[in-house]
Amino acid sequence: LGKRLNNALGQLSKASVVDDEVIEALVKELVSALLEADVNVKLVASLRTKIRARVKKSLEEAETSGQGLRESNKKQIVQKAVFDELVAMVDPGTEPYKPVKGKSNVLMAVGIQGAGKTTTCTKLAVHYQRKGFRTCLVCADTFRAGAFDQLKQNATKAKIPFYGSYTETDPVAIASMGVEKFRKERFDVIIVDTSGRHKQESELFEEMVNIGNAVKPDMTIMVLDASIGQAAEGQSRAFKESSNFGAIIVTKLDGHAKGGGAISAVAATKTPIIFLGTGEHLNDLERFAPQPFISKLLGMGDMQGLFEHMQDVAMANPDKQKAMAKKLEEGKFALRDWREQLSTLMNMGSLSKIMSSIPGLSGAMEGVSDEDAGSKLKRMIFIMDSMDNTELDSDGLIFMKMDSEGLPTGLNKRAFRVARGSGTSVKEVEEMLTQARAMSGFAKMAGGMANASKEKDWTK
Ligand code: GDP
Ligand code: MG
Repeated sequence: LGKRLNNALGQLSKASVVDDEVIEALVKELVSALLEADVNVKLVASLRTKIRARVKKSLEEAETSGQGLRESNKKQIVQKAVFDELVAMVDPGTEPYKPVKGKSNVLMAVGIQGAGKTTTCTKLAVHYQRKGFRTCLVCADTFRAGAFDQLKQNATKAKIPFYGSYTETDPVAIASMGVEKFRKERFDVIIVDTSGRHKQESELFEEMVNIGNAVKPDMTIMVLDASIGQAAEGQSRAFKESSNFGAIIVTKLDGHAKGGGAISAVAATKTPIIFLGTGEHLNDLERFAPQPFISKLLGMGDMQGLFEHMQDVAMANPDKQKAMAKKLEEGKFALRDWREQLSTLMNMGSLSKIMSSIPGLSGAMEGVSDEDAGSKLKRMIFIMDSMDNTELDSDGLIFMKMDSEGLPTGLNKRAFRVARGSGTSVKEVEEMLTQARAMSGFAKMAGGMANASKEKDWTK
């Protein structure tokens, strides 16, 4: 899906003029990519309408704001409109429950058999334990033979206290006893694993409701197998009616699952996804948030990661932090800022990994070793060290020859001087400028998003 969406947007950046025809082609490509990924047909249709409307509105607004509209700006506006609508699709606009310290938070997992509940419960326990919560597991699955053994094995491996029974056959009784015991022992997070029948049978729903009434969960989590595709929507609606879950975890996204069905489930139930399961191991749990998910899908790198990184960098110096936040908000990002980011990167751990998460660099860093990444970074910094202050404070266009319409046609004398002065090639200078431009385009597009994503950290 990501590849196709990315291609669609790639076509947009190649187009020399952004007219209705180009926009329609983009929308068409997006639609077929989403359908192929199993996103619900109705949802895709409404998305198409919304994207068209948002693009039109944004372009009109930009046009009336007084500044002439360049094709490159138009592309950015279209790209942002698409991005925002895709984010809105996976963002139900409601916040899930967050466990708090100082009380026993009860979480209950529901979902059909084989969805990944037991595995996910253990992953969650490990996650919250790492966050400093005293965490434990309760096995309320008396339906499946060996269910308690499975949970016991997982819990033991992860060194998580657990509760269950080989003899008691009433899941409600086990759940109540387990939760009560752990409440008394003042555990912070008590995770209740339930059974799931093959389908959403009424018996299962009744059992879920009864367990829920007995343990009064702070959050009920529906565990959804990504590979069920289109069936995700019906299944999650049915569960929503009977158990009113407050969060979704989508599992098995590491396989060949398309994941689009899961997106449809979110839209259908207006419930946030909080985590993704990406493997059978205890650590294969990823936090989910709409913006990073969509940017990854679109091959834009992990924006949240980038902002977190920038915040870390800026944290060491509060004045700088303010300045950087302001720049991002205003969409200003000069070469000097780029240089600062890069030089901080030089002193960080796994360079290639960090660099590949940064939009301007992700393409250039594919399959590059840490060592190569380091020398590449150094050369980029050399280039900027050969610039004068005016150049550093610019967005990089100062190095370009412009045509009569103000569009860049190539490098000018300054670029050649900088290449000579830094002992690099003109090609490297050009590359560095392209990357800085991608970054600054991103900063522009990010606009207030930096702040939005700070507040939207659901799962902490
Ligand atoms: P339950 O019946 O809902 O409790 O499901 P289980 O936790 O027993 O999981 C069913 C199967 O799915 C097991 O073989 C798990 O190892 C596997 N599984 C669970 N989550 C994931 C995941 O995120 N990725 C993969 N590849 N397998 C998973
Ligand atoms: Mg189970």
